[in-house]
Amino acid sequence: MRNAISRRLASIQPGQLRFRRHPCPLCRQTRLFVRLANDETGVRCLHCRATPVTLSLVSVLLESQPDLAQKSVYELSSRGALFAFLQRNAGSVTGSEYFADLAPGAWQGSIQCQDVQALTHPSGSFDICTSTEVFEHVPDDHRGFAEVCRVLRPGGRLVFTVPIDVHGRTIERARLSAGGDIEHLLTPEYHGDPVGNAGRILAFRNYGADIVDRLLASGFDSADLRMPDHPAPWNYGRAVVVACKAARTGKA
Ligand SMILES: [Zn+2]
Repeated sequence: MRNAISRRLASIQPGQLRFRRHPCPLCRQTRLFVRLANDETGVRCLHCRATPVTLSLVSVLLESQPDLAQKSVYELSSRGALFAFLQRNAGSVTGSEYFADLAPGAWQGSIQCQDVQALTHPSGSFDICTSTEVFEHVPDDHRGFAEVCRVLRPGGRLVFTVPIDVHGRTIERARLSAGGDIEHLLTPEYHGDPVGNAGRILAFRNYGADIVDRLLASGFDSADLRMPDHPAPWNYGRAVVVACKAARTGKA
């Protein structure tokens, strides 16, 4: 993240830089935000480094989960503004990262490797799972959603963001063959990966509003798209997906 910001600062054009005071839901007070360029990726809270994606997720999380301080949270990363916010505000927080060259459950230093398609956490471990910009990179997202549903307690929630066209349908860009090779259906689209994996990671799909159907088909009892009550500065608000596990499982 820091390197990405440094690169943006190095490439900035005079006159693009903007500052604005705006409420930061992570800092829980009005902070100074910077906009490095005329798009969402250039906006940061100068105090906690939150992005519009993080601001949107935390706004919706706090609206839907005011008792966050009592909740155990599993965040599908281990660093950054969201993770630090959860460490300060949740009852407990567990993090992980996906490292392609490590087995799920193995540790790299203090960070545990997890593949969301095959989590090593016991069933019913967490009240809430959060993620930002992860599931578009998961080859089998149905399996990933089902795994998150499994490790949530009854009544638990998955609150997350992905790049999404809320007026469109999901477009598959790539898939894994039976032999495990990547088969590209469209021009490969890569996103930056700050924790490794050669610095970039393939997007398997661009989501549309039917992500809700995928969550329901993967075991969640309800799912919907929510816009934060307070958009990020310069109106860069993102839709946040909230999926709920049934309060009681059908199984004994
Ligand atoms: Zn902040």
